[in-house]
Amino acid sequence: MVRSNENYAKIPGNYLFAEIARKVAAHKEANPDKKVISLGIGDVTHPLIPTVIAAMHKAVDEMGQSESFRGYGPEQGYAFLREAIVRHDYAPRNLSITAEDIFISDGSKCDVGNFQELFAADAKVAVTDPVYPVYVDSNAMAGRAGNWTGSKWDNLIYLPCTKDNAFVPDFPKETPDIIYLCYPNNPTGTVLCKDALGAWVEYARKVGAVILFDSAYEAYVTEENIPHSIYEVPGAEEVAVEFRSFSKTAGFTGTRCAYVVVPKALRIAGPDGNPVFLQAMWNRRQATKFNGCSYIVQRGAEAIYTLEGQELVSKVVNSYMANAAKIRKGVQDLGLETFGGVNAPYIWVRTPEGLGSWDFFERLLSQTSLVCTPGAGFGPSGEGYVRLTAFGTATQTEEALKRLAALDA
Ligand SMILES: *Cc1c(COP(=O)(O)O)cnc(C)c1O
Repeated sequence: MVRSNENYAKIPGNYLFAEIARKVAAHKEANPDKKVISLGIGDVTHPLIPTVIAAMHKAVDEMGQSESFRGYGPEQGYAFLREAIVRHDYAPRNLSITAEDIFISDGSKCDVGNFQELFAADAKVAVTDPVYPVYVDSNAMAGRAGNWTGSKWDNLIYLPCTKDNAFVPDFPKETPDIIYLCYPNNPTGTVLCKDALGAWVEYARKVGAVILFDSAYEAYVTEENIPHSIYEVPGAEEVAVEFRSFSKTAGFTGTRCAYVVVPKALRIAGPDGNPVFLQAMWNRRQATKFNGCSYIVQRGAEAIYTLEGQELVSKVVNSYMANAAKIRKGVQDLGLETFGGVNAPYIWVRTPEGLGSWDFFERLLSQTSLVCTPGAGFGPSGEGYVRLTAFGTATQTEEALKRLAALDA
């Protein structure tokens, strides 16, 4: 028989969300009269803005006419979208990113999962802990994570982010080749200020590492000194790749569009020790394995950058952030400590003394029929915390707050 990729066999099941679903189902069964509200899922609820819908309708009509029909598009994405991204997301911040540096895709999950292919099989990977699981699992599948010990991978470098270091990861003892950073962070909702991110760029330059910077939540940054892009740090274009997505920015979780920035200046060592360009490698990879994001969807994404699009999209983001502020206050009023929720739609809650993530999950569910995500599911340093999301509707959030107020925490 054909032998399987042995790395897949090492990966533990997707225990977290399956376990949550199981416990919620049991709660519903036992309490058929109670309505469960989830503050657990990381998905948006607001529909696409009319500007995007109109642009996609127009594109659909174009596809039905022989003069404007489009077949395969460029694997890198259409120039109209790549140029709009540069014009709106980078040029206004005086960043030298060009359209050639931008690669459009159908989602950041794929980009972030695929990018590790460009690095050597024995490259040493560092992840913040707790962590967005895609970074870990995609490297585990490639054999870089080592073996699962029941709580950790034995060949990954974990960078704990907890209350004790104010959620700013310290440099590890062992030197990594690849460093995954996600800011604003999922799951903790915390951010790095410009100096802290600058220190990581300086570190990467010093040790010769590459930073894979996930800024899916960039649109949620509200405070002044918090970078929107890693390229706001001088020299980052030589050591960092940036992942952006329209999913959380503009409600594209089901529509699918994202992009990666791979700057021209970013070089790593080739097999003979001579430098190779990551941009050329990613271009080769995409041209081979990817055939582009749909024209219709790219036109929809482009419409986000119109004046009207920007205005409507920021209204939606602000409405989620208004939820976040209310949830934060509601939890703090219970006497619990919260983090995040100011520059991100996630609130990271310290569980009451002596109560584990899952214990608190159970208490919240049984007393209020509210669902949170136990922090332990995102990595060992997530124990003792739970994640609440602000992506619900205003009505759901109001109802959730009433119930929270009644919690005997
Ligand atoms: C939601 C999310 C993304 C975006 O994923 P898409 O595939 O573009 O929907 C990327 N990174 C993190 C950390 C996320 O939470």
